[in-house]
Amino acid sequence: MPECLFCKIAAGEIPAEKIYEDDSVVAFHDINPVAPVHVLILPKKHYATTLIMSEEAPELFGSMMKASSEVARRKGIDESGFRLIINTNKDAGQEIFHVHMHLMGGEPIGRLRVKYR
Ligand code: 5GP
Ligand code: ZN
Repeated sequence: MPECLFCKIAAGEIPAEKIYEDDSVVAFHDINPVAPVHVLILPKKHYATTLIMSEEAPELFGSMMKASSEVARRKGIDESGFRLIINTNKDAGQEIFHVHMHLMGGEPIGRLRVKYR
């Protein structure tokens, strides 16, 4: 996906502050954070939505979950807590069509903060 922003960030063609990287997943700070810690975790390979990735590479959700624990530890919010969100399609507000998980924490997050921004 040559025109995909997150493919370019994952490939290092566009700079981002990376926090975690392994063979299949990368994590970096959101450019417009809505919490003191706001990190995006995504597969290096392009899947537009969770619907597609669930069919073609469901094991990558496990890799993203594993990465989220490591990111939380590295950011020092594993004990205080954090929230994970993945938006799929329009009503959820998905803006970037390359699957990504938001990890947010560093302050109490209201239980009714459904929209993350
Ligand atoms: P979505 O609404 O698709 O779930 O989330 C997209 C997220 O990507 C937003 O929180 C937005 O701030 C973030 N974002 C958009 N462009 C960039 C960018 O160029 N760099 C980084 N690090 N984050 C971005
Ligand atoms: Zn992509």
